[in-house]
Amino acid sequence: MRIFPSPRALVRLWPRIRPHRWRLLVATVCLTASAAIGLAFPQIVRYLLDAAFVRHDGALLDRIALGLVGLFTIQGLLNFSQAYLLSSAGERVVARLRQDLFEHLVRLSPGFFADRRTGELVSRLSADIGTLQGLVSYQLSEFARQVLYFLGGVTLLTLTHPELTRTTLLVVPFVVGAAVFFGRRLRKVSTGVQDRIAEATAVAEEAFTQIRTVQSFVQEAWEGARYGRKMSDVVRAAVRRALVRAVFVGVITFALFSGVAVVLWQGGRLVLAGVLTAGTLVSFLLYSVFIAAAVGALTSLFSSYQETVGAARRVFELLDTQPAIADPPDPRPLPQPVRGDVALDNVSFQYQPELPFALERVSVRLAPGEVVALVGPSGAGKTTLANLLPRFWDVTSGRITLDGVDIRSLRLADLRHSIGIVPQEPVLFSGPVAENIAYGRPEASPAEIEAAARAAHAHEFVERLPQGYATLVGERGVKLSGGQRQRIAIARALLKDPAVLILDEATSSLDAESERLIEAALELLLKGRTTLIIAHRLSTVRRADRLVVLDRGRVVEEGTHDELLALGRLYARLYQRQFRDEAIPV
Ligand code: ADP
Ligand code: MG
Repeated sequence: MRIFPSPRALVRLWPRIRPHRWRLLVATVCLTASAAIGLAFPQIVRYLLDAAFVRHDGALLDRIALGLVGLFTIQGLLNFSQAYLLSSAGERVVARLRQDLFEHLVRLSPGFFADRRTGELVSRLSADIGTLQGLVSYQLSEFARQVLYFLGGVTLLTLTHPELTRTTLLVVPFVVGAAVFFGRRLRKVSTGVQDRIAEATAVAEEAFTQIRTVQSFVQEAWEGARYGRKMSDVVRAAVRRALVRAVFVGVITFALFSGVAVVLWQGGRLVLAGVLTAGTLVSFLLYSVFIAAAVGALTSLFSSYQETVGAARRVFELLDTQPAIADPPDPRPLPQPVRGDVALDNVSFQYQPELPFALERVSVRLAPGEVVALVGPSGAGKTTLANLLPRFWDVTSGRITLDGVDIRSLRLADLRHSIGIVPQEPVLFSGPVAENIAYGRPEASPAEIEAAARAAHAHEFVERLPQGYATLVGERGVKLSGGQRQRIAIARALLKDPAVLILDEATSSLDAESERLIEAALELLLKGRTTLIIAHRLSTVRRADRLVVLDRGRVVEEGTHDELLALGRLYARLYQRQFRDEAIPV
């Protein structure tokens, strides 16, 4: 670890600070003027004391005291302006950075999110970026102020009495040495604290999103203990940081005040010898205190700097993560209207290089308007195959085409606009019903939304909700039943009107009425679209034009229901086992 970590990560903040450079400039002027007043103060005190004790001029004393109050009023105003300007700039810079990071993260591929915990990302977005705010609002200006005080103090001291300056400066190397020594440790322990906080946040987030699982298995205490362990880690790391900071503060204050004591002693002797006036000694002391305070503040800024660099690196590391799936450099146009001709051509896929292939040499063609059912035992690769079509992941080898164009050479937006997905267990956004239905087409009119809801057989129950289409559905849609959520998802897909539809059919046992309504809604949804159904229900399998049977990532059988039954292999076995109970003539 370097003593002075490279500020490269911080320099990258500049484009976000730049729009506020005028605020920063005005703040800098205020700050400089305020520091100048501060530095003039000991000189004025010297006049004041000498006026009182040497010249015995009472009127002069009054005037100087009054002048001082005036000066401090001005300094107060300057400090106010500077603090206000910098804090408001800091808030805006941080908001911009959060916005940028959020917009970047939502564009990363599902693979990125599969490898990370949501809570950790949320913590980066809030805690780490929060740390960076201090840089703009406080650290930069404090650094400038303390440098001014240090240089100004040393200069004025040297001009008036070089000998005392030397004594004062003797403490500097000692303090800087301590700062370097403690700074490194501090950065390490601070990074530790931030990481532990991110881990604890992740545990909390996981428990909240799965609250029903937690409660149904009566694992509240266990989750509490899990969070508690993470919190102990946080406390242990934070206490270690507090220890390093505390020792640091102790050592530094000791060094600084000892320096002041030495100046007082040496100066006192000079006063006794008649070389200095009392006023001069007091001004010396004030300058020494300024210098000491500046050195102290600079060392603590140095340790904040270590923390800030750490936070900036983590934030920019996320910002630098390239999306694994992105638009090609020069995308090909998708011929309109999209016909929905989908072909998987010798597709193999593995999630990670070291993992076994989830799909192996799969070739499947879906003609425009055709309904193909994908069946196979659990873990066969059905969901994986469905995820490749909208490019949530990219094929490892082979290719997938839409209307004859390799999907990797299309713009992602074009590709995804032409594919609709009704997931197995639809999750809604916490907003109103109408907003959820219009998610793929925010510009849809209320009439269009209602038409889609009617077609999906959702209108009946939406109308009965307390506020109709304006009813809030709760986080992830928890205030609706599974069947209701699914009908909302169908309405959403209908409104989007995609050429290709992917349906991860629900296995959850819906009540007969919901099931009948969903069946009826699907009927409409499938019409005129190329559809891939991951089928669990006999009725759907029957409706499909063709069945593709997957087993361990390979296509093992293909044909109509009757053909495959006659074949008497995997599908026939699955059918006997899985669908037998449903196989009542309908
Ligand atoms: P199905 O939908 O047919 O039940 P999946 O397509 O979900 O099966 O899974 C196929 C295989 O891929 C399984 O062995 C599963 O463990 C693996 N798999 C699924 N998702 C991931 C992932 N994100 N990372 C690594 N392996 C995965
Ligand atoms: Mg699946």
